[in-house]
Amino acid sequence: MKTNRREILMFAGGSAVGVLFTPAPWRLITDTALWSENWPGIPAPARGEIRARFTNCSLCPAGCAVRARCVGDQPVQLSGVTGHPLSHGALCPFGIVGHHLPHLPARVKEGPLKEAAAALADGIAKCGPAESVAVLDLRPSRTASWTYRRAMAALKNGRYVTPSGDTSVAVDLSKARTVLSFGVPVLDGWGTPGNVNAARTGFHLIQVDPVESRTASMADRWLRVRPGSEDALAQALAGRITHAAAADTTGLTVPEIAALAKELEQNGPVLVLGSSRLASGSGIVIARRETPVPEEWKKAAPAENLASLPDRSVRVLMIDESASAEYLSWNAIEKKLVGDNPVVVVFACSREGYARHANYVLPVGVYPEVADDIPPAIDSVAAMFRISAPLVSPPAGMVKPEEFVAAAAALGIGDTLRERADTIHKTGRGKLFTYADAKSQALKDVSADNFWKALNAGGCWIDELDSKPSPARLTTVAPEVRPAEESELPLAVVLTHELTPGSPLLSKLYRESNLRLAPGRVALNPSCGLDDGAPAVLETLLGKCRVGVTLDAAIPPGVVQASASPALLDLCAAGVRAKVVRV
Ligand code: SF4
Repeated sequence: MKTNRREILMFAGGSAVGVLFTPAPWRLITDTALWSENWPGIPAPARGEIRARFTNCSLCPAGCAVRARCVGDQPVQLSGVTGHPLSHGALCPFGIVGHHLPHLPARVKEGPLKEAAAALADGIAKCGPAESVAVLDLRPSRTASWTYRRAMAALKNGRYVTPSGDTSVAVDLSKARTVLSFGVPVLDGWGTPGNVNAARTGFHLIQVDPVESRTASMADRWLRVRPGSEDALAQALAGRITHAAAADTTGLTVPEIAALAKELEQNGPVLVLGSSRLASGSGIVIARRETPVPEEWKKAAPAENLASLPDRSVRVLMIDESASAEYLSWNAIEKKLVGDNPVVVVFACSREGYARHANYVLPVGVYPEVADDIPPAIDSVAAMFRISAPLVSPPAGMVKPEEFVAAAAALGIGDTLRERADTIHKTGRGKLFTYADAKSQALKDVSADNFWKALNAGGCWIDELDSKPSPARLTTVAPEVRPAEESELPLAVVLTHELTPGSPLLSKLYRESNLRLAPGRVALNPSCGLDDGAPAVLETLLGKCRVGVTLDAAIPPGVVQASASPALLDLCAAGVRAKVVRV
């Protein structure tokens, strides 16, 4: 039988009309919807009682107070706690989605616990008289930090290392009328966002930055200086060099520098911020009282910085990356390790940071799965004690770093958070602020058990303020001596300020949209001679790594802006010299 075109068209038309009257496709659509709804990969919406629970965000040192709307045991929405004396009801974008963190796709879920413990014991036994066993604690002053210090004191060659100096330095933003910031991200992750916002109307912000950082774009005035010339401006304002000499170095004009000096003189008190932990300002920068600890804990190893360890002396290194505030370049750490088979154990939730260099990576619980205290933020003038109380349970097999380190040093520990809470309670000082009712009461009116319960149900202890706070003893950082080889490197490095990657969703959006420089990318002025998106190699005196190039007219010639990702932080710090070449 021969089929012609007319018959095919009639058949197709008839079929289309027939389909409308047959139940088969409609049934198929319904079934497909049901199957895909029940497919095991689709997350099931939580069911259960809707209630509010409270905790503190431990994603960064600000430790903002959090109200979690939970369905059953599952937090589904995070918000700030209204009336909180420091965080004032605010959370940053990462804090708002902090409950996504346990679902981080690249999360480390298992690790060689027994092998790491055996290698550690072997390394400690082999440690020579000039060698050491060290813990690098990236967020000092926690209760876990005291366990590390005690554990290192219990070992013959134990050393306790932290990234920066004195953590008791505190800044009273409410007293400043002018803030002069040398590249500090004051409005973008420095301090506690709610507290900075609350104080913002009271001070005039002058941002000294070579590139238009987010803080520079929101400041009252942005002074664009040549990269690496910030020190010359500070010296001129302190009267140590002439305005003309500073103008030559910074690229500012002499009248601009003179006007700035006059403004600082007339609009005090002035707070000068020079790095994330270095600040000066008469009456504004103070030494905060220490949050009390049990007396017996004070037999502890002192905190040292990495530079104080001799090169090639560390046989065993444990790095707690579970709570971090700062990142030290791996190249600087690596120089401290012994040459023959050092043991490096890293406690981390992902393989992106120091885990890339470790012999053993042990998985840890993340916020909001683990109980950890958060030391006072830099803009908290009072001592504080608050706990990031878990909202969900961690997966099986997670390691508690402080317990692991204590066991390696044969140090018996109990419930250290409770011991510290009891010690604070015995002082009878200060106030307890509870989140559910936003009320403060004197600590002396609360029983020890109720204090402990309140800390775990959303609360914080705030110490009394000294009537005459002592000024902070600030260590001056000696100017770095630049190696002669740097003259071969034409670009000055500026780092992007990286917020804590609290949410897989936000990290993905930022990275894929290139709203922030993705890890492994650098930004250069279009006059650099490279193509946008081209692969290239970034080279500093510490080594080389492959990068992707983004051309950005906002980056001045002679500057390379690098994303503050672990791979690039291994090679560069702000202000070092670099070159970027085509591959
Ligand atoms: S990430 Fe830091 S600033 Fe953001 S909500 Fe958490 S503690 Fe606050």
